Amino acid sequence: MRLFAILGNPVAHSLSPIIHNSVIKELDLMPSLYTRILVEDGANLRKIFLNAGLSGANITVPYKEEAFKQCDEVRGIAKEIGAVNTWVKEGEKIIGYNTDATGFMEAISHFGSMQKILILGAGGTAKAVAAIFHANGLDVTVTNRSHDRLAFFKDKGIKSFEHKDLMERKFDLIINTTSAGLTSSDLPAPFLDEIEAKVAVDAIYGKTTPFLAWAEKQGLKTQDGALMLIYQAAFAFELFFGIKKSAEISQIMKENIALPKDLIWL
Ligand code: NDP
Repeated sequence: MRLFAILGNPVAHSLSPIIHNSVIKELDLMPSLYTRILVEDGANLRKIFLNAGLSGANITVPYKEEAFKQCDEVRGIAKEIGAVNTWVKEGEKIIGYNTDATGFMEAISHFGSMQKILILGAGGTAKAVAAIFHANGLDVTVTNRSHDRLAFFKDKGIKSFEHKDLMERKFDLIINTTSAGLTSSDLPAPFLDEIEAKVAVDAIYGKTTPFLAWAEKQGLKTQDGALMLIYQAAFAFELFFGIKKSAEISQIMKENIALPKDLIWL
């Protein structure tokens, strides 16, 4: 039996068990199971992973930076981000990856080439998204309502400004990585009505946020965070099972994300 889990706090709401188990079942990879484990103290992440006998895990809020520190080796874009959302057991070692970044790139690939990108927010999601755009040579700008979190981006040579200092207004793609609109009616930035863009993507999923409502009103193409969620999971799944089938895996996840057909997998 191979066991996988989402580790974080909270995890009760997480859709990861449903979507991962749906693929395990459809690709006939049993006996394997993906569950959720509430971690109350991030210092214990590694101990919990090993004691539970996990073959792999996804790490979510608020432990992605802790997960980066506690794994034995970090691979890929995660080295630039300083945070990992996926752990895979390889022999006696825990290998860390960041599939939030690669998943986001895949989620927007159908829009075609996006050269000039504005990211609203400077938290964990912004770091992952900005780092992979920057690594791919794209023109990326980050803006945040406050100053402190901008240091990460400045250190990497990524353009970053407090809202009040952002002068540019024309972009191909604007991305909301703030939590504004998650539970409130706040827009993520005060200057949105001055922005000219083609596509707007929100990291928040499952609702039309004030940001997406603004973008629709402006006539932009829009997308919520559901595809990002699916592709980060699909890429993690590939790493867990050592297979290369992201198109098939993501399709199964898309079909199972809204309405789990088989509650036995909860
Ligand atoms: P963080 O807590 O790391 O960062 C939050 C950011 O939002 C900060 O820059 C913060 O600014 C800013 N912010 C918060 N409230 C407001 C507001 N009212 N107005 C303007 N800015 C605000 O969060 P994460 O990066 O982990 O997550 C961000 C969002 O992305 C969440 O809503 C989460 O649900 C979503 N998400 C979606 C994923 C997916 O798979 N679709 C995956 C991960 C996250 P400041 O620094 O000033 O506090």
